[in-house]
Amino acid sequence: MTDIPAPWTHPFLPIHGRQETFPVRRIFCVGRNYSEHVQEMGEDSRELPFFFMKPASSLLPEGQDFPYPSESQNVHHEIELVVALGTGGRNITRDKTRQHIFGYGVGLDMTRRDLQGEAKKKGRPWEVGKAFDCSAPCSRLYPASDIGHPSEGRIALSVDGEERQSGDLAQMTWSVEELLAHLSRYFTLHPGDLIYTGTPAGVGPVLPGNSLYGSIERIGELTCQVVQS
Ligand code: MN
Repeated sequence: MTDIPAPWTHPFLPIHGRQETFPVRRIFCVGRNYSEHVQEMGEDSRELPFFFMKPASSLLPEGQDFPYPSESQNVHHEIELVVALGTGGRNITRDKTRQHIFGYGVGLDMTRRDLQGEAKKKGRPWEVGKAFDCSAPCSRLYPASDIGHPSEGRIALSVDGEERQSGDLAQMTWSVEELLAHLSRYFTLHPGDLIYTGTPAGVGPVLPGNSLYGSIERIGELTCQVVQS
């Protein structure tokens, strides 16, 4: 028998220009939300957005290395705009969604593509492919009170200085407002929730030793080193 564990605290993200930190409650992720990435994954029509989750404990704040995960030979980068909620709610209408957004970040939805592929084929859940340790790198948050609510701007990712992914926030199939309104019909949203909003075309493998650099125009940037675990 072991002892009852001591209570733990939620993970935190730094906030650009502030001393305070942002407590992270849950991580929602949106699948296939840029038309070219939808095509490269073999789909081509605008379907309703779908969501999956990563545990808050999979958050990897900026400045920490990404340990290459076990049991996979094909780990992919997915650069994504991250929305951080300052207040929650349910059945939020589109025009009211912005007032719930604290700020934005630059995130990576790291994916064990081989295990996700097997799970898809067998109709199984995606957790081993998507929700593993350190699978959610995220930059500091940039408050909407400073940067506003960018709905267009270049989003890009390079590996060792070579560009792999690029797109524009304006290419999102479902806008941030639409995503939040839709999600809030299925879940009561809470302060501290993060939403990873999908990735543009160009996803691909990473290897230990790689340096990942993601940026979103008018928002910010994220650097992350892939290391042997
Ligand atoms: Mn993704």
